[in-house]
Amino acid sequence: MKTAVVTGAAGFLGSNLTDRLLGEGYRVIGLDNLITGNRVNIEHLRNEPRFEFREQDVTEHIAIAGDVNFVFHFASPASPIDYLELPIQTLKVGSLGTHNTLGLAKAKGAGFFLASTSECYGDPLVHPQTEDYWGNVNPIGPRGVDDEAKRFAEAMTMAYHRFHKVNTRIVRIFNTYGPRMRLKDGRVVPAFVGQALRGEPITLFGDGSQTRSFCFVSDLIDGIYRLSQTEYHEPVNIGNPNEMTIRQFAEAIIEMTGAKSPLIEQPLPTDDPKQRKPDITRARTLLGWEPKVDLKTGLKQTIEFFKGRIAEGPDAR
Ligand code: NAD
Ligand code: UDP
Repeated sequence: MKTAVVTGAAGFLGSNLTDRLLGEGYRVIGLDNLITGNRVNIEHLRNEPRFEFREQDVTEHIAIAGDVNFVFHFASPASPIDYLELPIQTLKVGSLGTHNTLGLAKAKGAGFFLASTSECYGDPLVHPQTEDYWGNVNPIGPRGVDDEAKRFAEAMTMAYHRFHKVNTRIVRIFNTYGPRMRLKDGRVVPAFVGQALRGEPITLFGDGSQTRSFCFVSDLIDGIYRLSQTEYHEPVNIGNPNEMTIRQFAEAIIEMTGAKSPLIEQPLPTDDPKQRKPDITRARTLLGWEPKVDLKTGLKQTIEFFKGRIAEGPDAR
């Protein structure tokens, strides 16, 4: 049986990836320090003999006995509010955490997979974003901690590939949503759905004319799994190219929840990208992948999930 190590396994994407890997027959060792993750996301695996959870900060040395076939490095705070609250932790997990997980992959002769991000493109001047665009990043702004940590992580990954011949892959993930996101993580999907379900005003940052392109989690995980099965080492964008303004997105949430929430404008955060849409030609060609779940279908499942979380009461995460 093949063994995969997944960092960030108690998070939104790490837990969904873990489910997929178990479904593909892997044994999974999940590492997470629970800084933004939640044990609830892996609770359903409590009696799964092929899954083991270890509470571990991956910026510290990682010791794992026995064979490891694949290391998936998904640990990192992932929302703009988390970057403000956890700037040093974000930089450390992208740099030291990537170094440690690459070191583990090298020592075990394992494959390595880095969860990188569309943040590498910063506030992009090329639209849609292709993988060969080098980006427009402010290194010293509040979002710079994620952008630069992930750019460093990509550089470190390519160096381990070129110098140590580690079999690496890099995915650049664009805005992804779905069940197991944290209700209060500040990202736009939980923020708007939570506000709509509670009948509170929907907080548009700026005038809501900035664009994003939202990918449902099952589509993303499928692209990631397919990429892990290739021998392709350069970054690959995975995301849904269905671009819309944040105002249009708020209107879609209001329509789908039947909420009476008004839209209110609040200051636009520093360096908030004005537009974002993946060019997925590389993923289409290389992986035969494209997103299948439309926004309505994905939001329906996501709204049901958040209804359940809100019903848990005011302390629900
Ligand atoms: P998340 O916050 O739900 O999950 C991240 C997990 O990493 C959490 O469980 C957290 O506790 C854990 N973690 C953080 N620092 C750690 C450390 N030092 N040691 C061990 N565990 C640590 O976020 P997510 O949305 O699941 O994001 C997962 C990865 O995907 C991140 O690397 C993120 O940058 C990347 N990403 C996500 C998106 C998206 O839209 N969801 C977009 C771009 C990139
Ligand atoms: N946003 C918003 N209201 C909110 C939360 C976010 O208008 O309550 C906007 C944010 O300014 C950004 C977009 O929604 O333009 C997506 O934000 P998110 O935090 O999800 O991630 P980002 O794509 O910026 O990394």
